[in-house]
Amino acid sequence: MTEEKAKPVNFIEKIINEDIASGKHSNIVTRFPPEPNGYLHIGHAKSICLNFGLAQQFGGQCNLRFDDTNPEKEEDEYVQSIQDDVRWLGFQWAGEVRYTSDYFDQLHAWAIDLINAGKAYVCDLSPEEAKEYRGNFETPGKNSPFRDRSIEENLALFEKMRAGEFDEGACGLRVKIDMASPNMSMRDPYIYRIKKATHHQTGDKWCIYPSYDFAHGQSDAIEGITHSVCTLEFADHRPLYDWFIENLETPAEPHQYEFGRLNINYTVTSKRKLRALVEGKVVAGWDDPRMPTISGMRRRGYTPTAIRNFCDSLAVAKTDGTVDVAQLEFFIRDDLNQNAPRAMCVINPLKVVISNLPADYEENLTVPFLQDHAELGERDIPFTNEIYIDQDDFKEEYSKKFKKKFCVGKRIRLRHGYVIEADGFEKDAEGNIIQVNASLIENTLGCDPEDGDKPKGVVHWVSTKHAIEAELRMYNRLFLDANPDSGKKDFMECLNPESLIVTKGLIEPALAHAKPETVFQFEREGYYVADRFDHNSDKPVFNLTIGLREDKSLAN
Ligand code: ATP
Ligand code: MG
Repeated sequence: MTEEKAKPVNFIEKIINEDIASGKHSNIVTRFPPEPNGYLHIGHAKSICLNFGLAQQFGGQCNLRFDDTNPEKEEDEYVQSIQDDVRWLGFQWAGEVRYTSDYFDQLHAWAIDLINAGKAYVCDLSPEEAKEYRGNFETPGKNSPFRDRSIEENLALFEKMRAGEFDEGACGLRVKIDMASPNMSMRDPYIYRIKKATHHQTGDKWCIYPSYDFAHGQSDAIEGITHSVCTLEFADHRPLYDWFIENLETPAEPHQYEFGRLNINYTVTSKRKLRALVEGKVVAGWDDPRMPTISGMRRRGYTPTAIRNFCDSLAVAKTDGTVDVAQLEFFIRDDLNQNAPRAMCVINPLKVVISNLPADYEENLTVPFLQDHAELGERDIPFTNEIYIDQDDFKEEYSKKFKKKFCVGKRIRLRHGYVIEADGFEKDAEGNIIQVNASLIENTLGCDPEDGDKPKGVVHWVSTKHAIEAELRMYNRLFLDANPDSGKKDFMECLNPESLIVTKGLIEPALAHAKPETVFQFEREGYYVADRFDHNSDKPVFNLTIGLREDKSLAN
């Protein structure tokens, strides 16, 4: 199956192929396990595409499991947004949404099994003492004085913990592994802590909560996950993951595999930093179009296809890497160039009066939104004796440099319309050109002028009578520094003060009725999306998705 792809087989695909060949697994089950403590970002998109992609590729299934072991940080808003984002990217999880908290009873029972086996103990060290006993990379830890409590005592104390008889931090349940292990996560890790918090799924049923490490692998086992794929920072936890699976009667024996996190330059991908941007009101919310969140990219006009293509282009490696944001932008342009409907919007208007047409002249030009894409439909562009073109498309004097431009005595073609010739222009008191006077060359709709004097350029335009004013939100990179995440400078000091400029444009009338979230190529201007929430026919709002070409000046 994988041989059909031009892409090389990544190391996880290779492992799965081997597991299928050896008969170890026949049905591949993966999962995407977000913690519901923020919105998903482009890094998560890589993990989603990988986990759901593997399931699709091998005809298996991928679960969506909320890793909700921390009751304090989690909110329903995130549970909802995460599901929306995964679906919007084009994936559907197997069955119902799952929660680690669904397994709290089983996890609790397994903790008791470990106590009964003499492998877990209630430790009364204060958090500060426990830290001191733990040692560090150079120094081995010391055994806790509570390590040798009897099974009966541990069972009784753990039950008291569960019943809420102790304060937070008074004690916790730890597994007995090895305080001298060079791997810090094996130094008698805590598997249950007291937290007197209401949980968004289980309410007040529990006041003790399992650690991520104790919950994750066991949840994988319960769900029959065959390949538990996570990011590299968990590599040190793998021996612990395996220890639990070995020491508990789990229904399956899942395996953890780690791959490199996605980092992108000019971007931060950490929920903590993204939250700081939201809470500091640097951006308008998690879905601000400048955010690298999935909902931000969606509002910016990035398409699920483009994001998936980008993620699929990334190496699945065993090292972390930083990808150039231009690579993401390449895939955005690539998709939009092929699929975005075209339309016209004049941003810096210059009036052109066509003197050989009557003042009440009106003609509807019916043209497709995109050549060879009949499914995108067509629209009427009203043409009248007064139109706007872009200021930059008319030059007072002819020069070779501007040979495609419009100037007195020269001709230009109006996109989808006629050829016109400039006869003269008018200036205001400051010397700015405020109007061009022109003549229409007859019989030039869809064909060249009969006298053989062909125009060199084509310009976009709108009828002055029919043009509708739209708000244009011009988004640019949020950070000026290529590496805002480096830690050398506070990332808040790397912000681009011009990441949003709000301006106006004059759009052709059909655009007022654009469905929110439709991305257009405004011809010769860039890709713009009708804002998901604010755009309507009374007040059109478009966001700049991306320019037509890579702006090399940004890649410093
Ligand atoms: P953050 O650092 O943004 O808070 P996280 O790792 O804490 O991210 P989780 O909600 O725990 O966020 O992540 C869910 C899944 O997405 C995990 O399997 C995690 O490894 C993966 N993931 C998170 N960030 C990235 C990234 N930058 N690249 C690839 N995968 C990621
Ligand atoms: Mg996390």
